[in-house]
Amino acid sequence: MANKRDYYEVLGIERSASDSQIKNAFRSLARKYHPDKNPGDEEAETNFKEIQEAYAILSNPQEKRKYDTFGHDRPGGSPFGSRGFQGVDISFDDLFGGGFDSIFSQFFGSSQRSSTRGSDLLVRHSVPFQTSMEGLEEELEIEVLKNCSNCDGSGSTIDEGSRSCPSCDGRGRIEQISMVGPFRQRVRKECAPCRGSGRLVSDPCDKCKGEGRAYQPIKVKFSINPGVVSGTRLRMRGQGESSSALNGEPGDLFIEIDVEPHPWFERDGPDLLMALPLSFADLSLGVTVEIPHIDSEKLKIKIPPGSIPGETISIPGRGLPSNRGRSRRGSVTAVLKLAVPKKQSRSMKKKIKEIRDEIEAELPSLEDRITSDAKSRRRD
Ligand SMILES: [Zn+2]
Ligand SMILES: [Zn+2]
Repeated sequence: MANKRDYYEVLGIERSASDSQIKNAFRSLARKYHPDKNPGDEEAETNFKEIQEAYAILSNPQEKRKYDTFGHDRPGGSPFGSRGFQGVDISFDDLFGGGFDSIFSQFFGSSQRSSTRGSDLLVRHSVPFQTSMEGLEEELEIEVLKNCSNCDGSGSTIDEGSRSCPSCDGRGRIEQISMVGPFRQRVRKECAPCRGSGRLVSDPCDKCKGEGRAYQPIKVKFSINPGVVSGTRLRMRGQGESSSALNGEPGDLFIEIDVEPHPWFERDGPDLLMALPLSFADLSLGVTVEIPHIDSEKLKIKIPPGSIPGETISIPGRGLPSNRGRSRRGSVTAVLKLAVPKKQSRSMKKKIKEIRDEIEAELPSLEDRITSDAKSRRRD
């Protein structure tokens, strides 16, 4: 297949083309080369088949990725089985609506989860708290049951040692159309001759014992958005385990993000909460404190004179970015607490005693204080 044309070239599109660009390119070319419009024209028929094949691959996310990675020389042979692409029957009318899509989506079983699909994997990954602020580009190496590199997933290292199962074209399952009354019903079954593996192995590979799969290290790259919360799962389509069947689709890889705790912030989505223990003098006289912050600009908290423990001070816009858009940020709320030194020197005690009477004189009686505190508590 050395002279097989590039699928993107066939459809006349860039490699970066979007799904709808791919679809539109196919639709307009298919109208041009449709046999109904070009009766008896062999060249048009060849072109029509070529663009169908290109579209079948590029419209399927799994197959497109494999093609983008390996080109026409992908491991495991042609995705269409040993006989290659056979063409499909699309009516000219289908090209005006979306009627052709369902025909292509049946090719690789992408519209239905096939029984031969590889297993999904879940990997837990811890990231520093700062990731919630800045996001992170990550690369992980994990061991995944993938197509065996020793035999390219075929199950044998020699050419004739393994062949695609002719009964199922390497798909590991067969579809039977049966008539139920006036209706045609499609039934999928595991292929008996290859026991669902899609291949017949006569000379098994040493590394995978003919399974076609082996645990291999793979590198996965992913980006974590600012605002990420613990428990977020990133889905990497097709990066899970390879299917046990030759032409089965791989499972997905899920990466569950665990955000490590911050030394002092508790988190409520984008909002941050912290306790701020201050001395009686600072609460009484008022103070402005500065602490290091997640946005690398110091966080200034202004405590007004006469503040009491339990009161809160909110600073809007200095929390975490919301995971819906990094322009909006949550708030930081500091709860005031009283910090009392454990060790008190003789001179300190003396000075505190000196002001105690003065302070008491300014306060209402103890009973009145208790009553008014209870009242304010009940009002909340
Ligand atoms: Zn088979
Ligand atoms: Zn192998």
